[in-house]
Amino acid sequence: MKIGTLENIQHAKSLLNTTLLRPKPSSLIDDYGRCMKKLRVSLLEACNFRCFYCMPEEVQFLKNKNLLSVEEVYKITKTMVGFGVDEVRLTGGEPLLRKDFKEIVLKLSTLPLKKLGLTTNAFYLEKELEFLKFTRLNHLNISLDSLDANKFNRITKRNGFHQVMSAILKAQKMNFRVKLNMVLLRGVNDSEVFDFINFSKENNIEVRFLEVMKIGQAYTQNNNIYMSAQEIIELIKQKEPLIPVPMAKDSTSFNFRTSSGASIGFIASESQSFCGACSRLRLSSEGFLRACLMKEDGLSLRNKSEEEIYELCNKVLKLKPIERLYGIKQDMYKIGG
Ligand code: SAM
Ligand code: SF4
Repeated sequence: MKIGTLENIQHAKSLLNTTLLRPKPSSLIDDYGRCMKKLRVSLLEACNFRCFYCMPEEVQFLKNKNLLSVEEVYKITKTMVGFGVDEVRLTGGEPLLRKDFKEIVLKLSTLPLKKLGLTTNAFYLEKELEFLKFTRLNHLNISLDSLDANKFNRITKRNGFHQVMSAILKAQKMNFRVKLNMVLLRGVNDSEVFDFINFSKENNIEVRFLEVMKIGQAYTQNNNIYMSAQEIIELIKQKEPLIPVPMAKDSTSFNFRTSSGASIGFIASESQSFCGACSRLRLSSEGFLRACLMKEDGLSLRNKSEEEIYELCNKVLKLKPIERLYGIKQDMYKIGG
């Protein structure tokens, strides 16, 4: 075959499509220029709480044998770190219920990540803090919807307030980077906003107020619990000025210092969507990669080669919405919140 002939060019093109000559996968960038840097890894669906807006009392969780193994979580995460992901957060369900939680954290601690974090209800956190101190997992997002023990128990349907509070205070003392997530629930905990602001000030812990999203239980219950972040901001401003804190472009929250020294943030997913700058992908406990919390469809990364994972990631990226989708019946604990 002569150099430069049609057959030659076609042959070269077909070679380019083989694993050998294809350029090594690098970043995950979508058609809108959004670069994927953050991965939420759900470790399981199960939870020991039943927050009424998240999970029904009677619920069928994915069987343990269907969950990604430690090795699979590690392999997929490592591969995606190779594509530019530099922040990983473990979530669920309740990640601390995984029997092999420590193994997973130890494995992921070997990866070159800027941040390794955990989202947890903190019921089982305190006894893990000493262990976690020796790992690279030092960002703890702890869900706490009430500072009132009885109300906490009514929201979570479990009796866990004191155990959770003890873990929060200990984690803060041990210099973990603790953030509290409080979902704003009209008529349930909205009267506690100033208590949370005081708690932030007194304990030097950032508190983030989340708008309840139209997902799963919160979508189907239709019980008027939604409150906008703006409503709360106006309320606070009547009492004290809010000083904006500069945030990263892809941050889900916008933050303020209060004049009294509290550090607060708002995740206004419903009213002020951050989809346009989103840099997150989500891996379900069964190994499905999703482009968004609001997307039911995902692609399985189980038992796939690095090349295949890259291709699948890019297929998933095509599904990533640029604007907020209206709502989804699928529960958040199944996707990984
Ligand atoms: N069990 C862990 C926890 O509660 O932190 C991790 C999983 S949970 C699904 C993650 C976060 O999602 C929690 O802060 C929870 O309050 C929040 N969440 C659940 N359903 C929500 C909804 N419909 N809208 C907004 N936040 C929600
Ligand atoms: Fe469990 Fe977290 Fe859902 Fe509450 S929000 S039921 S702690 S998964």
